[in-house]
Amino acid sequence: MIPNIETGIFGLISNFILEISKIKDFNTAHESIENLIKSLIDIENFYIFKKENDVIIKENPETPESDLSDIIKWSFERSEFSIFPEDNGSYIVLPVGSKNKIFFVYAAFTKDVEFSNQIITLIKIISFLAGNQIENIYLYNEILEKNTLIEKNKNFLDNILNTTKDCIAVITSNLENAFSNSHFSELSNEITEKINEQVLLCFSSGNNSSVEITVDEKTYGLDLLLMENNSENMVMAILRDISGTKELERLKKIDKMKMEFLSMISHELRTPLSAIKAYSETIVSSEESLEKEMLDDFMNTILNESYHLEKLLNDLLDFSKLELKTLKIETENFDIVPLIKEIINSMADFAKNNSVNIISEITDESIDVTMDKTRMRQILLNLLQNSIKYSDPEKADKWVKISLNTSEEEKIQIVFEDNGIGIDEKEQSKVFEKFYRVDSSLNYKVQGTGIGLSIVKDLVQLHNGTIDLESSLKKGSKFILTFNRKVI
Ligand code: ADP
Repeated sequence: MIPNIETGIFGLISNFILEISKIKDFNTAHESIENLIKSLIDIENFYIFKKENDVIIKENPETPESDLSDIIKWSFERSEFSIFPEDNGSYIVLPVGSKNKIFFVYAAFTKDVEFSNQIITLIKIISFLAGNQIENIYLYNEILEKNTLIEKNKNFLDNILNTTKDCIAVITSNLENAFSNSHFSELSNEITEKINEQVLLCFSSGNNSSVEITVDEKTYGLDLLLMENNSENMVMAILRDISGTKELERLKKIDKMKMEFLSMISHELRTPLSAIKAYSETIVSSEESLEKEMLDDFMNTILNESYHLEKLLNDLLDFSKLELKTLKIETENFDIVPLIKEIINSMADFAKNNSVNIISEITDESIDVTMDKTRMRQILLNLLQNSIKYSDPEKADKWVKISLNTSEEEKIQIVFEDNGIGIDEKEQSKVFEKFYRVDSSLNYKVQGTGIGLSIVKDLVQLHNGTIDLESSLKKGSKFILTFNRKVI
């Protein structure tokens, strides 16, 4: 039942509040307002006007055209309640909303022409309460819409961040995750610890960084980017499994090396073979006319080139055995001093031909070792041969020094030092890699396969020994072999 004005002002206002609180949406709002206005005055007709894109729209079609349009326009602009007298009654015009936004204008026609102050105040109260309620609904709906939009955007972002294969997190300086995608949350403790170490370095250096980390034989690329969020410094960590790419790179590199190796080895094999062929043909075709001295010379060349061929083939054989891991060392007890001297002697001619002076600092004192003698011979020969091969043609006094350090009872150290072309610092670790040859004008004149030092390194490791290199470009190189005297 609609309350009567006689109910008392408080009862009336509480009924207003009750009725207005029933407003749940814009479409039914006018019904409540209608009920309340009707409780105060007799209404003949009522009309609703809305404004869309600055155009005023009539909600009920029977709305009179001409006489109301200006009033309604004014009402939208001023947002004030007003009464307009007409020929046989009055229009009550009630804008519903707040100063900022009028949601609709309610206009009602009544035959009354005079209104008490009390009625006007009460209609104003209805207008105020309805405006508030509708604004609240409007704001509530807006918040709901915004929340739905935020939720949607968040889900979309989550979806993107969880679909990427990368592990992404934003980490604070206390190493707490301000954000992490699902892949990051699944990382093992070991990886997380490594990431955290790098994050701390990134905070302390104040620079972004890109590093590679290896865990359980997998390689990861880690990008760390400094960022600021709400005035707090953070680091965004992006981790990517790059094992596949690394493996592909490795296979491509091996493939390239194999091709280079094949072309280089055919060249290496052809050179001594051509020499042997040419000298043999000369001997066969003119054996009788050749003087003994010349014949000896030819025969020596053939022999030397055969040794060269033999060495190349042995290197290849060892290389494939080492690759297949079928090469085993066979130890025996022997005195290493005569072995080193034998190597020096065998290289005497080669050194002479290259104008290199071999300085031996080896004494006659016996040093007994338990090693693979054949393989030790191979190691020493290779290093001495390289020291001579890579002598510096620009130096008048070329030398190679061989020394033996026996200061430690259980160990021996054999050192090959030369004043040759030397090896640049950034190349030093690479010279032990398979097929690697330093690419320089100093080096390119000397023939080689790039597998000698890789074989030496593997053979040294099979003896549980180490090989160290100290070198300086254009000054010379020092290869230091260290072994236990007894290789078990
Ligand atoms: P290569 O058949 O080319 O001699 P190695 O594996 O024995 O192959 O050596 C690899 C590379 O290391 C050589 O090509 C050369 O560039 C460098 N090298 C080795 N020994 C020396 C040395 N004593 N002085 C300067 N460079 C050297």
